[in-house]
Amino acid sequence: MAGRIPQQFIDELISRTDIVELINEHVPLKKAGREFTACCPFHDEKTPSFTVSPTKQFFHCFGCGAHGTALGFLMDYEHLDFVESVHDLAVRANLPVPVETTTSAGHQQDSSKLYTILGEAATWFCQQLRQHTDAQHAVDYLKKRGLSGETAAAFGVGFAPPGWDNLLRAFGSSAEQIEHLLKAGLIIEKEHGGSYDRFRNRIMFPIHDTRGRVIGFGGRVLGDDTPKYLNSPETPVFHKGRELYGLHEARKTVRKLERIVVVEGYMDVISLAQHKLYYAVATLGTATTAEHLKRLFRIVPELVFCFDGDRAGREAAVRAMENAIPEMREGRQISFMFLPEGEDPDSQIQAEGRGNFEARIADSVTLSQFFFDHLTAQADIATMEGRARLVELARPHLQRLRRGIFREMMLTRLGELSQVKLAQLSVGNKTTTKKQPYGKNRVKSALSPLRLVVALLLQYPGLAVLAGEPQRFRHFGGTGANLLVQLLELLQTNPELKTGAVLERWRDQEEGSYLAKLAQWKPPFEDTDRLEAEFSGALVRLEQQLKNRRAEELLHKAQAGLLSTKEKDELQQLLNRDN
Ligand SMILES: [Zn+2]
Repeated sequence: MAGRIPQQFIDELISRTDIVELINEHVPLKKAGREFTACCPFHDEKTPSFTVSPTKQFFHCFGCGAHGTALGFLMDYEHLDFVESVHDLAVRANLPVPVETTTSAGHQQDSSKLYTILGEAATWFCQQLRQHTDAQHAVDYLKKRGLSGETAAAFGVGFAPPGWDNLLRAFGSSAEQIEHLLKAGLIIEKEHGGSYDRFRNRIMFPIHDTRGRVIGFGGRVLGDDTPKYLNSPETPVFHKGRELYGLHEARKTVRKLERIVVVEGYMDVISLAQHKLYYAVATLGTATTAEHLKRLFRIVPELVFCFDGDRAGREAAVRAMENAIPEMREGRQISFMFLPEGEDPDSQIQAEGRGNFEARIADSVTLSQFFFDHLTAQADIATMEGRARLVELARPHLQRLRRGIFREMMLTRLGELSQVKLAQLSVGNKTTTKKQPYGKNRVKSALSPLRLVVALLLQYPGLAVLAGEPQRFRHFGGTGANLLVQLLELLQTNPELKTGAVLERWRDQEEGSYLAKLAQWKPPFEDTDRLEAEFSGALVRLEQQLKNRRAEELLHKAQAGLLSTKEKDELQQLLNRDN
């Protein structure tokens, strides 16, 4: 696994980066009071609702809700992943990125060696395609598939010659080099010493990361060997469930991608590009994962999954749909296209040309349509029993949808099909709790004591020192109280942290978006005395609230005769203190 980037380094990076300066390079900002504004780069608008706060080191948009730190901005705007964004900011701040290693030291160095050797191997495979005496059948195969030399070169297509040690002899000049080849997945260790080439007599497709570095290979067999397609194994730099073949090439070729077509194989991607359809990518022999979808949706608002028209294709589409549901929301579109039976994208575009193929893309079935078609095929909605079954089938999926317009529309459609009133569908939401009004004008002092305490801490981390011993809240249990304890402990030991750096601690955690929303809240007061008074007051109310809740809980237990002696004492104390 990749090494972790230490948290202190992220803190340092956030504090060294001027978010205003960073964003201003991409989106010209105007000063407005203490903050800076612009028209939002993440949604279409005429009047600016995108705000950057230099004190919080945080941006957010009142229009579309986009928000984040300098790191988040790079991820969303430049479509980088987290590690890439960290590296970019580190270069700007002139800081070397340290890596916490769990197993071996010097992991980062190892990775850079792996990138180097993988890149060199890719060049070598290309040379073999041009020069090797056995390369002719590879060239013939590519020609038969209709590939021009130009397209092959654009994708860096190469050739691994037959034989057990071609690559090994070309690169394995020292024990250290052999070690790198092994780690990069290019050679395989024999049981009784020695090693041999992983890829033999195959057409080689280099797989790039978003920065254009070679991270692995796919190889298509030329002889009778199995498997037909062989991928690099998981290595420190190659993770199948994350990467998408062709994404780097697509982004290089098309300046502004508007949609992406997801196909199954390397040759599909290349063949579509040969026909000037440059926006196809392929997963690497895995189903589409949530991570794939997140990556793709950072780049385009529209995805089209392309499947073979047979049973296996239908089944793959159902899996893709199930994985896609949690990622769906308004502003994003997913659709499914099914090719005629027996065809794949390669054969189909060869047969009918790009225009017709793109007409099929335009005709693809939207996710919502596919979803209800799939379910109504399993439940006869002409009968009451069937309609009840439809609701049962739909419920677990719809629960995984984010709250929002898209979800409402799906529920409305389910209501129509099942003839059940919306209110009776009772599709709760598993991931989010009751909707809270956040935003410029809507948030008033109606925040609960817990929310107010957390929100104030996020705006003014220095308040944490007034809170006393955090552990006393832990006793009450519950996510809210636990989060508060963590937050207080963090800020009492690191009072200099800015809002942005605090939020980075909860990146990718469920509490993260809760905290980010509270960070957008603006206290209606600013002077220090008032802030301190509000904070202390909210803490007192919170503690009282938690105690009341605990007392109620114990009283319930008492009624059932289940109190331990210790709990009896506790209840006694709680009730006394109330007066
Ligand atoms: Zn916006």
